[in-house]
Amino acid sequence: MKIKYIQKTSLIDYPGYLAAVVFVTGCDFRCGYCYNKTLQNFAKADDFIPVAEILQTIKERSKFIEGVVVTGGEPCVQPGLVDFLAQIKDLGLKIKLDTNGHNAELLEFLVNEKKVDYVAMDIKAAPQHYETVVGSKVDLEQIKQSVACLLKTKNVLSEFRTTVWQGFATTLDFHQIFELIKGAENYYIQNFYSPEAECTGSYLPMSRSEIEPILEMGRKYVGKIVLRGDWL
Ligand code: SF4
Repeated sequence: MKIKYIQKTSLIDYPGYLAAVVFVTGCDFRCGYCYNKTLQNFAKADDFIPVAEILQTIKERSKFIEGVVVTGGEPCVQPGLVDFLAQIKDLGLKIKLDTNGHNAELLEFLVNEKKVDYVAMDIKAAPQHYETVVGSKVDLEQIKQSVACLLKTKNVLSEFRTTVWQGFATTLDFHQIFELIKGAENYYIQNFYSPEAECTGSYLPMSRSEIEPILEMGRKYVGKIVLRGDWL
């Protein structure tokens, strides 16, 4: 595990639970809007926190927190993830995993073996725009398999989520996204937000008037659809 840092307490990253948040480095995608760009590349050997140190911090926090969020970067490209999660579970804490869903076999294992309690999976775009949005090669079968796994399992709670910006997608594109996750309990649409000037590029937040018709359409496909972020 290559872990860049740990946020000792968060009220917002694990729905319903007070949690620590572990940020791993390294991701197989290169989303243009990524606001964790410093976590896209794998850290050099001297640029990450030893796992033992992270686990000790979590252990010390375990009286105060109820869970741990493992995010990134992309946790599912990390060798040692399964072992790391097991050690968190041994502390009696719940685990939320954030993933881009590009390693379906690993995700299925984690879900089927109840190694995690909650999974938040990104749906980056309609299938034909996936590679453009994530800036790298994508095996769409992996994405579909991960979605299918989360839709059918009773082992974990889950959410799908999409980051949007002005002009992100047409109504038809959203129709395809909704078809992909049809039957999901929770779908979150996150408006683009950049804490760093370098990430803004050609991205601007989507307006409420642009998203309203999408919400209307989405309610026919998923149980709950929620907006995250600021909407003008
Ligand atoms: S999948 Fe997530 S961490 Fe990876 S590049 Fe995209 S937004 Fe950034």
